[in-house]
Amino acid sequence: MKIIPPSFEILDDLDQQSLAIRIEVCGRVCYKSEDKISESSCEPFIKNIVKRGHNSVMEMGVLTLKVIYDKESDATRFFATLPKYLVIDRPDKKELLISGSVRAFREMYQSYSSVKIVKAMAGFLAKKHPMFFFDCESKRGWIPQEGVLVEKFDLEKVDALPADLLARHRHIAVKFYINRAITHEIVRHRPCSYLQESQRYCRYSQSKFDNQVTFIKPMFFKEGTEEYAEWEKAMLETEKIYLKLLETSSPQAARTVLPNSCKTELITYANLIEWLHIFKLRTSPGAEPSMREIMNPLLERFKEIFPNVFGDLQAKG
Ligand SMILES: Cc1cc2nc3c(=O)[nH]c(=O)nc-3n(C[C@H](O)[C@H](O)[C@H](O)COP(=O)(O)OP(=O)(O)OC[C@H]3O[C@@H](n4cnc5c(N)ncnc54)[C@H](O)[C@@H]3O)c2cc1C
Repeated sequence: MKIIPPSFEILDDLDQQSLAIRIEVCGRVCYKSEDKISESSCEPFIKNIVKRGHNSVMEMGVLTLKVIYDKESDATRFFATLPKYLVIDRPDKKELLISGSVRAFREMYQSYSSVKIVKAMAGFLAKKHPMFFFDCESKRGWIPQEGVLVEKFDLEKVDALPADLLARHRHIAVKFYINRAITHEIVRHRPCSYLQESQRYCRYSQSKFDNQVTFIKPMFFKEGTEEYAEWEKAMLETEKIYLKLLETSSPQAARTVLPNSCKTELITYANLIEWLHIFKLRTSPGAEPSMREIMNPLLERFKEIFPNVFGDLQAKG
């Protein structure tokens, strides 16, 4: 067995990559199949994900659009759809700033394909990224929508927005390497997107996992104490039983013996407003200590990257 400390990685490098690359890199965390990434792997990977309905993978690419429209009635019809998974602001008259994931834009079109602004956004995105809309196009193709202009609002422009708009439209992903008890708590935060290493698909007896189970070092028990020795003994015994079960059963069956201490990788993708909410709750003295162990240093990094949004927030640990 392997024992590692908890850690995190802010996936800001992926912000500079194409949406397709970003979606594939994040999606492969579930299967731990990052070794299969190649120059031509993202299109088949994404099409397969869409066909299988593994929908949360399509949430791992967020983009912002600027929509300029002529008629107020078009905006009224758009708002009447009550878009739940899009962040929308009206920075100017007859202008909308709309951020959302590939999934949100796809499903908006699938549900409201007769709404002009929805059609215009889908048409714009489908031309730029045909692989995301390969199963959506109507027989007549993507027809330009008169009176509605859609433009990409680049990340540099999002980063230059005033703090209130920046906090709503800027999304950032963090990859956590933590135990399963903590991921259960993080995924309770609803306005986020998540992808997690799957114990159904990962077979830890394989060589890519060094034929062993990885556990997260518990911050509660000091190494060298009797308590730590008891914990270590339990993990060793569990790993032994898990590997034995794998000889005759599937990973999804064998995983039923794996404990909370098991290491998992979790990608959490949210806008800065939601991260602010998470930090307020998860760095407070009432939060679980191993949650604070990871969230306190993460907040410090967020303060460095987005001082206008997180600068005043103090970790209370
Ligand atoms: C110290 C602590 C102890 C906890 N103990 C327990 C426990 O014992 N058992 C347990 O089950 N959970 C527990 N939780 C989880 C907790 O109840 C929340 O589910 C979790 O913290 C997610 O936070 P949230 O609900 O504030 O907001 P998020 O899900 O992060 O949502 C962000 C915001 O979106 C809005 N929102 C999202 N969804 C809805 C909705 N459906 N309705 C209305 N508004 C919504 C709210 O304005 C909310 O502030 C605990 C959390 C903490 C921090």
